[in-house]
Amino acid sequence: MATRPHAVRHVRILGAGGTIAMGGEVGGAAHSATPRFDAAALVAAIPDLAGGDGIETVDVVNKPSAHLTLADQLEVCRQARDAARRGIGVVVTHGTDSLEETAMLCDVIHDAEAPIVFTGAIRPATAAGADGPANLLDAVSVATSAEAAGMGVLVVFGSEIHHARCARKTDTTSLVAFSSPQTGPLGRVTEGHPTIWSRLPRNPPLDPPALDRSVLVVPSGSGDDGTLARAALATEPDGVVIGTLGAGHLAPPVLELWAAAAERIPIVAYCRPERGVVLTGTYGYAGSERDLRGTGIIPAGFLSPQAARMKLLACVASGLSLDEIRWAFRQDDG
Ligand code: ASP
Repeated sequence: MATRPHAVRHVRILGAGGTIAMGGEVGGAAHSATPRFDAAALVAAIPDLAGGDGIETVDVVNKPSAHLTLADQLEVCRQARDAARRGIGVVVTHGTDSLEETAMLCDVIHDAEAPIVFTGAIRPATAAGADGPANLLDAVSVATSAEAAGMGVLVVFGSEIHHARCARKTDTTSLVAFSSPQTGPLGRVTEGHPTIWSRLPRNPPLDPPALDRSVLVVPSGSGDDGTLARAALATEPDGVVIGTLGAGHLAPPVLELWAAAAERIPIVAYCRPERGVVLTGTYGYAGSERDLRGTGIIPAGFLSPQAARMKLLACVASGLSLDEIRWAFRQDDG
């Protein structure tokens, strides 16, 4: 008999692949893991969930997350949002490699109260000490809780609760693979119950019909002579997410290239350090944040490059104007 005393709503588990659904070779070895288990099998392996009332499973896709297309990711997010609109809590089991992108996209389109929670695993389901069952159980406790209502999309991993807009995969093999460099975790799951310490304001949702646009991420580094910027712009992208050094600094000729492009297409700037935002008035040298903020370039706020790319994709695919995109990103540029 399942024991979920704090549950206030039904939960739907959407399978989207990843290590949590992978198995190794017969004999229990974790090596050579490949997709093997559907969402029902993941639930069946957890005594506290198996046979429980109010739990349903749906398999959307079962791939390593590096194989997911933008169309796959949008489909996962739509199915999650549609269930949440009906008041059902949602858990998405997903590969950790690109989990932060799908979770961010999902937060951009999520417009309901019920929680949507992403989780996954570092160890395949057949490995000794597999972490998938514990993560899934924690994720269900958050998705069915009253506490997580209205919080948007969350990432639950290694007992920590992160917001999708802040979460990054910061460790390739640790069982606490995700962190939120800007804010720290929003809460924690203890003894099967979530405790939430802080909340992020929700953003107005978008509803892109498809993500068939080209948005590139172009980093910068010392000695940048604009080679990458010119190559990226030659592909005629619909938007570019650009790296800046420190708190929004670029070599002056590179800033000029991007500033000219920002007259035509959205150019969104992230900071290379994991924490912090583009400053507004500390420096006044050429190529500093003062110059950047004087152009049409849009600061990404605290978003990581990969999160900013998913948001910009959703913005351009929704047909937003340059001014509307600037307002959409201002919500993360606090
Ligand atoms: N290493 C990945 C994972 O943790 C594989 C993937 O992203 O599909 O799930």
